[in-house]
Amino acid sequence: MPAATSMPEAHPGAGALTAVRGEILDFVGDPAVQGDAAHRHHADGVLVLRAGRVAALGPAAQILATLPADAAVTDYRGKLILPGFVDTHTHYAQTDAIASHGAQLLEWLARYTYPVESRFGDPEHAREVADFFVQELLANGTTTAMVFATTHKASVDAIFEAADARALRLVAGKVLMDRNAPERLRDTAESGYEDSEELIARWHGRRRLSYAVTPRFAPTSTERQLELCRRLLDSHPGVYLQSHAAESRAEVAWVAELFPGSRSYLDVYDRHGLLRERAVYAHCIHLDRKDRQRMAATGAAMAFCPTSNLFLGSGLFDAQAALDLGVRVGIGTDVGGGTSLSMLRTLDEAYKVCQLTGQTLSPLRAFYLATLGGARALYLDDRIGSFEAGREADFVVLDPAATPLLARRTAATETIAGKLFALMVLGDDRAVHATHVLGAPARRRAAP
Ligand SMILES: [Zn+2]
Repeated sequence: MPAATSMPEAHPGAGALTAVRGEILDFVGDPAVQGDAAHRHHADGVLVLRAGRVAALGPAAQILATLPADAAVTDYRGKLILPGFVDTHTHYAQTDAIASHGAQLLEWLARYTYPVESRFGDPEHAREVADFFVQELLANGTTTAMVFATTHKASVDAIFEAADARALRLVAGKVLMDRNAPERLRDTAESGYEDSEELIARWHGRRRLSYAVTPRFAPTSTERQLELCRRLLDSHPGVYLQSHAAESRAEVAWVAELFPGSRSYLDVYDRHGLLRERAVYAHCIHLDRKDRQRMAATGAAMAFCPTSNLFLGSGLFDAQAALDLGVRVGIGTDVGGGTSLSMLRTLDEAYKVCQLTGQTLSPLRAFYLATLGGARALYLDDRIGSFEAGREADFVVLDPAATPLLARRTAATETIAGKLFALMVLGDDRAVHATHVLGAPARRRAAP
């Protein structure tokens, strides 16, 4: 991998105007719903920033004339500027389980996931992995992530500290797991509740950090633990919930055995009051119409995790069914079941999953899902996900000529959609020229 430089965070002075110039794209709606009215594109645009927020956006010819003479303008002409990517589901503690061979979900958890997660009671190990993971997020242009830690409190402290040090927006939580898991990783319903209370008090609402109550999935929680999850959410408005649902068929069958009174897998969460706004469920593959209706009606969101679903052989997400019923959907990398922290790699696989289900994913909708769609799934679209004035100025600068093949292919594209498609099919972290957090460069790729 080529060297990349990391820069210390720097926040622009309170009143000073700065700007970036280049090709700029963002979304104000879902292209599958609003068509071309859903995106804004400036072939030569300027994004004006003040105090880490978006002050204005428009064509260079118009905006430059309004800027004070001393305003610093970073020249990204030839590059494409988008809102920072939003990863709605991933596991930092599984960084070292990525690319582990030969198992489907339940065996994969036992053989690879639980052994690597067992090491996170050691704060030093947790810090080292958290630091690496956050650097990788930035190297891939991801500026907001919803992240599983492990059952250890130290693992939660480590990822929040690593994100906070770089002013990164992050939602994370301690995994709750009081049965059907190795003893060294199990909590109890009561201890998990108390630890979550403590972590919420320590981290939720601190700068750009939010807490998520995190039952791993229905099979590893007793009814009592799920009840206490509801109590945590009811007593802390604004706190998130993250979990997994209906990922593989074997898992669905296991849930039916463990919860014989439930109509479906998703119904287990519904009966415990865990379908609600700010609840994000990864995968949501093996659902029926009633399940999807409940997701839409309650405001819960799905994280579409294509690299993981293909890698573990779990199944194919039905993006059209979610769209038809109005369910909020974001994209998740789901490392380590997922095979990349790159949103570009993930969108490529999302396209292929749609192909396999007889659907198509337009490049504009793909990048919508990775930005504003993810922000909507997390109920953060009033803060991130677009370049509306007042939004937090998190953005990624993509290089359409990052590799010889990308340069050759994008030189032959005439539309923004064509350029986006080449980037998602051929791109990876090499195509991320720079990542800005609250306006300031947090990561910039060194010249090759
Ligand atoms: Zn996951």
